[in-house]
Amino acid sequence: MPYLQATIHENEESFLSSIHHTKKHVDKSKKIFKLFRAKAYFLRLDQWKALYDYQTENESKGRISGKDITRSLRNQLSSIQGNRCCYCRRWLYNIAQARPVEHILARAHYPQFSLEYVNLAVACYDCNQIKKDADWEGLDKYCNEYPHSKEFKKSFHPKYHNYDDHVKFVRTETNDFTLSVYTGMTVQGKKLCVDLLSKIAGMEASLANNKELANDIKKIQLAYDDMRSDVLEAIESCISEIHNKLIC
Ligand SMILES: [Zn+2]
Repeated sequence: MPYLQATIHENEESFLSSIHHTKKHVDKSKKIFKLFRAKAYFLRLDQWKALYDYQTENESKGRISGKDITRSLRNQLSSIQGNRCCYCRRWLYNIAQARPVEHILARAHYPQFSLEYVNLAVACYDCNQIKKDADWEGLDKYCNEYPHSKEFKKSFHPKYHNYDDHVKFVRTETNDFTLSVYTGMTVQGKKLCVDLLSKIAGMEASLANNKELANDIKKIQLAYDDMRSDVLEAIESCISEIHNKLIC
């Protein structure tokens, strides 16, 4: 059964009311978020990183940073998803860069929706890296309104589609190996398996046979929780190359 639009709206309201971990900063943070969202929408400019890097002047009440806002968003989305990746359903590690906020319609193609709540979910690092800017549905890139659930005919949309209706998976884990098998049950589920989940299963099997490499990647991910976005991008591009070698 598809997610109800009303539920998405309720979740969005709940995010806005807890947008900052300090109560006195909630109202101002809400205004900041809405301002960046409007800029993204009207100017068709990706505002995700601009929001992340934003911070107010240091006032008597303290400073608000975009990082606080994106952290609240990530925490709320993770919690709604039961702390599992929106695509592969593996557990999310509790560090920022290991659970990136996923733009379902990629920011590179649909910058107007870069801060649209319905377009945001939390993926694991691997899924986020493999999907990157892929445009799985191929919708009108100049659309003004966020596409309705009916328009996602080919691709899986984590906010609109109920995962269990589209994908079944079996995961076996022992001391020595991990084996995941994903099966698509619908057009959208099958496409997700081809485009992403088969690669995740392959990569997981490769890493299970190379514990040292798996540990090294985990250490890097744990170390860069507080890095600046430009440093993160450089490191992510190196890890992405390793990922690509593992799935090819
Ligand atoms: Zn994943």
